[in-house]
Amino acid sequence: MLTIGYAAQTAKSPLAPFKFERRALRPNDVAMEILYCGVCHSDLHQARDDWGFSMYPIVPGHEIVGRVTEVGSEVKRYKVGDAVAVGCMVDSCQECDQCRKGEEQLCRKANTQTYNGRDRITKEPTFGGYSKHLVVREEFVLRVPDALDLAKAAPLLCAGITTYSPLRTWNVGPGSRVGVIGLGGLGHMAVKLAAGMGAKVTVLSRSSDKEADALELGADNLLVSSDKDAMKKAASSFDLIIDTVPVRHDVSPYMPLLDIDGTLVIVGQIGPIDQTLTMPFVLGRRRLAGSPIGGIAETQEMLDFCARKNILPDCEMIRMDEINEAFERMERSDVRYRFVIDMASLS
Ligand code: NAP
Ligand code: ZN
Repeated sequence: MLTIGYAAQTAKSPLAPFKFERRALRPNDVAMEILYCGVCHSDLHQARDDWGFSMYPIVPGHEIVGRVTEVGSEVKRYKVGDAVAVGCMVDSCQECDQCRKGEEQLCRKANTQTYNGRDRITKEPTFGGYSKHLVVREEFVLRVPDALDLAKAAPLLCAGITTYSPLRTWNVGPGSRVGVIGLGGLGHMAVKLAAGMGAKVTVLSRSSDKEADALELGADNLLVSSDKDAMKKAASSFDLIIDTVPVRHDVSPYMPLLDIDGTLVIVGQIGPIDQTLTMPFVLGRRRLAGSPIGGIAETQEMLDFCARKNILPDCEMIRMDEINEAFERMERSDVRYRFVIDMASLS
């Protein structure tokens, strides 16, 4: 099927309209019309080849919500008209120990990314959600609970699951003390989800500009990371810190904020980190960890949790042709807190 999207043709070119084919349905495929797509900082990184493995043309977008338009002959779980969602993966080997555990994001043979990946059968490039239509195998399609507003649910598919997964991995619950570094798309979901799990949440931001927002989102307080006195006073006061900073930075100032056995999880930047002081690791048995998105079952669990707790991202709706401006604003952290493309604006 011929469809239309927005693609970057090179690392330096702005996104522009791009026509391409979506594959004919395989027996286990679901076809959907995309209604909304969130704008993740990873889209910006990959459109501009910040990570060095972008393939062009690239159609970004991995926070996708839509409606089923057609199903393959063997599809059991979905029917035409269902409200569905797709996140950062569209396939995995389905055979390794990780896939069998429902941790497809950790597939031993690497999961297939929704865009900037290659189809496992044809080896053709995958194109993401900045487009009108999508075809995905059934196992990687999520159900959007009725209680969730479709126009706002899209960012849950990446920002939501990427922060929900470490909160679950490190057993956050009532009484947990959670820090969130960077109040952007991922950060604001980390605050809402951790608060929803009953944790005491602190935002660590570069300034106090977002203090009122942080409290509104469910945080107990905001700590300005450049305020040395405040940082000193907060020593040993967190069980878990989620670091969403998208650029190279030094984690040394944050490590002493962890209590004994505490963990700082990097979900943001991919690349080298600045020299880190090992003393807090050794003396406080503290840990530095990382975490990629989450598995399919866990993503469904997160969507259901959000429906139950009435948790939705704070979205700013944009038209498809406003994407380049949105990227520039995101780079300046001028978004509160996630851009979502209304795909009706693309024709
Ligand atoms: P975002 O909306 O741009 O938010 C990033 C936040 O980090 C900003 O709001 C800002 O918060 C802080 N920040 C920005 N520039 C900074 C700088 N130079 N120094 C210190 N802090 C800075 O981005 P996002 O969509 O949340 O994505 C964040 C990162 O997560 C990206 O690198 C993205 O690629 C990555 N990501 C990873 C996964 C995964 O699977 N692990 C999934 C999705 C995204 P303050 O203004 O409060 O300081
Ligand atoms: Zn993302």
